[in-house]
Amino acid sequence: MASRPKFVVQEHHASHLHWDFRLEIAGTLKSWAVPKGPSLDPALKRLAVEVPDHALSYLTYTGEISEGHYGAGLVYRWDIGTFENLSEEDADAAWRAGSLRFRLEGKRLKGAWRLFRMKGRQERGRPLWLLQKVDDEHALKGHEAEVLGEKKKRKSPKKSTKS
Ligand code: MN
Repeated sequence: MASRPKFVVQEHHASHLHWDFRLEIAGTLKSWAVPKGPSLDPALKRLAVEVPDHALSYLTYTGEISEGHYGAGLVYRWDIGTFENLSEEDADAAWRAGSLRFRLEGKRLKGAWRLFRMKGRQERGRPLWLLQKVDDEHALKGHEAEVLGEKKKRKSPKKSTKS
């Protein structure tokens, strides 16, 4: 019997703070960037920008993506756990159809959730989805994602261009 697929949420202090939400589907990590972070309040749908799949090795990634690389900045593990597909189709088909329902078993995120693609909405070629808590015993009104890392903007020392 296969073990439950995993999910991870990474708090990523890149040029703009966001949370990377990743679900293990079909041997890869389907990924979204959530600018405001997940909310346990079913009334607070969160914008989730579809980003390219990541390798499963990103499940355990924390640390600093060095400057000059895509997504440079600190990455904290905000939550990790397992997920269970609740969609009628398998998770891969549901992802392609743009409508996922699933249950999360993490430390911060639990219970039923949905992720659905907004028809015809894109941002720089990336489909826009909404991440929403389904109302259940794990719902929490007014919940905002806790920021684990410091918000300080990291400055790189300016190189002199004078000759
Ligand atoms: Mn990111």
